[in-house]
Order: sequence, then C-alpha cells, then structure tokens
Amino acid sequence: MSWNRIQGHDAAAAALALAWKRGRLGHAYLFVGPHGVGKQSFARELARTLLCERLTDKFEACRVCDSCMLVEAGTHPDLFQVRRPDDVLEFPIRVIKDELLPSLAMKPARGGRKVAIVDDADDLNEEAANCFLKTLEEPPPKSVLILIGGQHAERQLPTILSRCQLIRFSPLPPAAVTQILTDAGITDRVRQARLLQLAEGSPGQAIALDDDEVWAFRGKMIDTLRGDRLDPQLTASMWMEFIDNAGKEAAVHRQRASLIIRMLIVLLGSAVKIAVGASVVGMEPAEEQSLRKLADRLGEEKLLVWIERALEADLQIDRRVQLILIIEAFLDACCRYE
Ligand SMILES: [Zn+2]
Repeated sequence: MSWNRIQGHDAAAAALALAWKRGRLGHAYLFVGPHGVGKQSFARELARTLLCERLTDKFEACRVCDSCMLVEAGTHPDLFQVRRPDDVLEFPIRVIKDELLPSLAMKPARGGRKVAIVDDADDLNEEAANCFLKTLEEPPPKSVLILIGGQHAERQLPTILSRCQLIRFSPLPPAAVTQILTDAGITDRVRQARLLQLAEGSPGQAIALDDDEVWAFRGKMIDTLRGDRLDPQLTASMWMEFIDNAGKEAAVHRQRASLIIRMLIVLLGSAVKIAVGASVVGMEPAEEQSLRKLADRLGEEKLLVWIERALEADLQIDRRVQLILIIEAFLDACCRYE
C-alpha cells in the first residue's frame, strides 16, 4: 500500500519493483524532474522500502516494523541524507567528504542495507563530485545511493550521469495537483486555478505559492502592466524588493526571481488569449480588464516577443547570472518592443 501515498509516479515505482523482483536493483540512482513534483517523497519511500525488515516481492515498505518506524521518525541509523546548505550556491565538498563518505563506509548498524539520499545534486561542483565518484561506481556492499537533481539531467556532471541509473519525474496532471491542493485544505476554485497555472504540474510548488505576499505582488504586477508604458526602473526596484523579502539566501532569491518571471509569463499568456478572443481562467473581472488594456496596447505579436524574452530570462536565472542584471536587461528588452 505504501507507494500509493506517492501520487503520479506509478511507472517509476513499478519499474523499481520489477528490478527488485529480478534482483537487478541499481546501486546509484539519479532522480531528475521539476521542483516540488515529489522526488524527495519518492526517495524517502524508496529508502523506507529498501530498509524495511519485512520486504517481500511486492517491494513495499510494511510501515510497522522497527526499521519502518525509525525511518518515519527520521532516526534510522542506516539512512543518511545530505543537502546543500541554504546559504551557499554550491555543494560544499566537506559535506561529502566528512559526512556522507564516512557514514557510508561504516557497516550497517541494523545489519540490513544502507541508503544515502543526496539532495541538490545539481549543485555538486566537480571537486565535490570527484570525491565520491568511486563510491558511486562501487558503493559499499548493500548500500544504495539516491541523488536528487533538478529539472534537467543535462545540468549534471557527465561523470555522475554515467554512473547512475536515471529516473525522470514528470509534472503531475492538473487533476492530481488539484486533488493534492484540496487535501491540503485549498478548496477555492479561483485560487486553485491560479496556483495550477503557476505550479507547472508541481504540487509542492502549488502549495508553497499559496501565500498572500505572492498574490499581493501579482496584483501590483498587473497594475504596472495596465499602465500606458512599462517603467523599467520602477518595475525593477519593485521586483528586487519582492526578491529581497524572500530572505537572505541566494538560492531563495533565484527561486523568487524565477517565480516573478513565470507569473509574468502566465499573465502575458492570458493577455494573448484575450487578444485573440479566447477565454481565460483563474482571473477576476478587474484583472481581466487590466490585461485587456495591455493586450490592446501591445497586440498579440509583441506580447509573444515579451514571452520569448521572459523565457530566456528564466533560463539565465538558472545559469546564475546576477539577478539585477537579468531583470534590467529583460525589462529594457520589453521596453524596446513597446
Ligand atoms: Zn517495514
């Protein structure tokens, strides 16, 4: 029953169960897929299953044995989890060298398997990755390594990619995300529709976005769009303020910058729909009115150019260019197309 708690990734669970049944389970896996789509939950469930003391051919954790209880409590001595600290952009080598590798080198405390989950594997630099390539190639007996990366396998170092079995996690269909939102107590239909548009099939992102500050910012963004001209300076400072409000960590700043861009892309997409006379969802009448003004001012073609520029800006955020530079360049490019 336990895999049923993981929504939307039945194929991955079935593939692992089959590998297990055939005695061909890998010793290093790399999970890739959008943020918030359930990779961490899946990794935990896989760890729970591998550590379960009553594991059968069905490849499902029993959830009642001592091991299952220890995983649930987060205190299983043979389950290690490491991640990049929030305040740095790259995975520190010491986390791998001083925490992960020594833990893996020890015999399993409970006599079964050992599982290591390495989150933020995208942020491993060459030095940090190199220091555990050998372990990745030939892990200690009975141990399984699970690396969790981001959306794109291409972001991984080739040395890591070649040593891991790749499991891709896709965005969830809207109905599954809606169900998860409903289960989380978010039941308002307009709210659900807006969250769905922004979350790109990721229930984790949808829930994280259900935040008044985010929606107040969206309101301000619509106000700037309905004006006679986009003011790049004013807009940039408004965006940077929202980014800085997210906290001090660089990674959080990037997430927020990406959120702004995606929010804008959704709004511009709605404006394109309005321009061509199609219906839009998740929008109050006043907001629709504002976007109609923008659609009338720019027209479909220029709106599409703005969307294209926004997509490029989002890619740059991923590539770690300084945020203010990306935002200013993007807004300047938009102004040139007014
Ligand atoms: Zn169990």
